[in-house]
Amino acid sequence: MGEEAGRSSSSSGADCQLDVTGGPTIIDFHCHVASGMCFPPSFSAGVVDNALAALHARGVPMPRAKVAGMHEATLDDPLCDRLVAEMDDAGIAEAVLLLPDFTYALRDSTHTIEELIAHHRTVRDRHPGRFRVFVGVDPRWGADGLALFENAILQHGFDGMKLYPPCGYRLSDKILYPFYDLCSTYGLPVLSHIGATSPALEAEPAQPIFVDRAAKDFPDVDFVLAHGSVNYVEECAMLCNSRPNIHVDVSGYEAGGVAGVAKLFGLGLHHKVLFATDWPIFRMQGRQASFVERLTTEGAFPETMTDRERDLFFHGNARRLLSKKRVPAPTPTP
Ligand SMILES: [Zn+2]
Repeated sequence: MGEEAGRSSSSSGADCQLDVTGGPTIIDFHCHVASGMCFPPSFSAGVVDNALAALHARGVPMPRAKVAGMHEATLDDPLCDRLVAEMDDAGIAEAVLLLPDFTYALRDSTHTIEELIAHHRTVRDRHPGRFRVFVGVDPRWGADGLALFENAILQHGFDGMKLYPPCGYRLSDKILYPFYDLCSTYGLPVLSHIGATSPALEAEPAQPIFVDRAAKDFPDVDFVLAHGSVNYVEECAMLCNSRPNIHVDVSGYEAGGVAGVAKLFGLGLHHKVLFATDWPIFRMQGRQASFVERLTTEGAFPETMTDRERDLFFHGNARRLLSKKRVPAPTPTP
């Protein structure tokens, strides 16, 4: 198994942050393993349906098989070697790999959550120092799911919880509280998808307001609302202002534009906003380096924003959330 990771190959003209040793320090708080094993066929079919609707409306009738093939081509990096190369090019030192559990809601999933957890451990160990893993377990798997989640934290040393409410639950559902108890015990953040997604799932449960009760009941657990600069921006900003433990990641600006990012900074939320790209979702729109650059060239940072505030966004906030972890070192792989 070749080791392609390297911290020293960062070159880019991207507006990357450098630490005192000259190494990149950007942390991307929202990525996924680019592989069909992580996205059930029904999920991907819904994504293709939306792309086809947009193309047809623009008078570009493209065969479904061609669009499906283009989508599939973005999922060709199961071991994250390409992602690491793009991170190097963009000045991104570390990324959080998010593992949502679709296996309860979408029964055509090709892999079990146990298999996906094992795969994420392989990827994390293949690229030492480059990836954290937030593992998701659908809370409706019950006691078995809870044990699976705790095992992933203790045995594999994963770093947080990923939730996907479009699968059919809300962030404040009591069924999630045993998971939040574990996150409190081990000092782990909870990141949740917010807003609509593949039409195979539901948008209604994925509204940001549903985090409020959970964040009130677990004041020592940090909650991150993903895509908060493009979905429900006003509501996400209100929640960030309302509770110390609610944050947003900005992924989605690659398609939705940077106006929402600028709005969050304009409201003084520098300490709550996390850099994030949602790799591989926007691979067809550009490379990771171009996405970092676009934040500056398209005006995401207000003129009044200080270097220190920009550092919080690119890595300081992420580092703060990740540094609360209280878990013994994982057991080595046999
Ligand atoms: Zn995502």
